[in-house]
Amino acid sequence: MKAVLIVADGMADVPLKELGGKTPLEAAEKPSLNHVAEYGVCGIADIIEPGIPPGSDVAHLVLLGYDVMEVYSGRGALEAIGSLVDVLPNDLVFRCNFATVNDKLMVTDRRAGRIGNADATELARAVEDSLREDPPETGGTLFKSTLEHRAILRLSGPNLSVMVSDTDPHETGVKVLKARPLDDSQEAINTSKILNKLTQQFHKALKDHPINKARVKKGLPPANIVLFRGVGQLPEIEPLALLYDIQPAAIAVSPLVRGVCKTAGMRLLVADGATGTYNTNFLAKAKTAVQALKTYDFVFVHVKATDLAGHDHKPRKKIDIIKNIDALVAHILNHVDLDETIIALTSDHTTSSVKGDHSGEPVPIAILGPNVRRDDVKEFDEISCARGGLNRIKGRDLMPILINLLGKATKAGS
Ligand SMILES: [Zn+2]
Repeated sequence: MKAVLIVADGMADVPLKELGGKTPLEAAEKPSLNHVAEYGVCGIADIIEPGIPPGSDVAHLVLLGYDVMEVYSGRGALEAIGSLVDVLPNDLVFRCNFATVNDKLMVTDRRAGRIGNADATELARAVEDSLREDPPETGGTLFKSTLEHRAILRLSGPNLSVMVSDTDPHETGVKVLKARPLDDSQEAINTSKILNKLTQQFHKALKDHPINKARVKKGLPPANIVLFRGVGQLPEIEPLALLYDIQPAAIAVSPLVRGVCKTAGMRLLVADGATGTYNTNFLAKAKTAVQALKTYDFVFVHVKATDLAGHDHKPRKKIDIIKNIDALVAHILNHVDLDETIIALTSDHTTSSVKGDHSGEPVPIAILGPNVRRDDVKEFDEISCARGGLNRIKGRDLMPILINLLGKATKAGS
């Protein structure tokens, strides 16, 4: 028996006025997702606890069965690992945003208009040059742009601490924050000094860069500052293969999710044309998953675009993406041996198109498989799945349920 777990990032949503009181999942046409729900078992899951909105890193660790309280050590390192940057045990890794500020350092766009990879890579070079010319007093520094506006900063050396606050204000219309030490250690004071110096230094390297001048001419927001947030260190987690006696593989592009999968010891597979953005190649992911199931017994497929639509307050866009995810699932349903394959669908959290951010409502789950106990649910959405046979579970319960269906659960007791 094999299993494929498809996680549509932030696909779950809330009922929306503009959709006649339906969620995007309820409003979308999705015969294949509904097929999984109708012939499988459904439920809803609180990823962490009821009402707690999880971040994507925590959510994916949980969905893979980990106790986040035990293993979570900050998002930066996970994103760095996913972006193929080496991280050593004592390194600090910050998630960075290319952002736009005005003359008074007030943030006007936290993502510099979701700057494209080409511009971001070019600007990252200017930042790297400035680090070479004027390196901070620490053991080593590395800056790398990852996807669109996202980048990472790695600091290595002895006199560093994770106990520093973000420079990212997480909202527009306010000034870039000063990094502050969160305890009175010399290391925390030193680390915040480094961040504050780098903020100025990177701003200087970026503000008059030809790429930014060209962006302003085209009416695009210049990426003239780097915001630091979500510092992390390398988490220590037991590989999935050891925890569950499975051979796991992942099809994911988003650096953060790749980082989680890599840390969990999953083989990262590449699907041609999968981009981690709106225009990803959904069918390529499906084909890669079908192929992977021939070699691996647990294949995880991640789709990021649903979350982006939620963050961008675009529920109709989310509906379009759900239709594409339906095609992805249709391809898998049509090309795997359904007598030997478990197909599980869920979302890593709710991303409310109203809030434009993660929200604490539970997510829908559906699991199809040859010996799965069916229930009466016929549609895959937040409301229908709540009536399903799984009832309301925790995010961490999903993996043991799948492992049991795979016939690999360990008996408790004799
Ligand atoms: Zn997410």
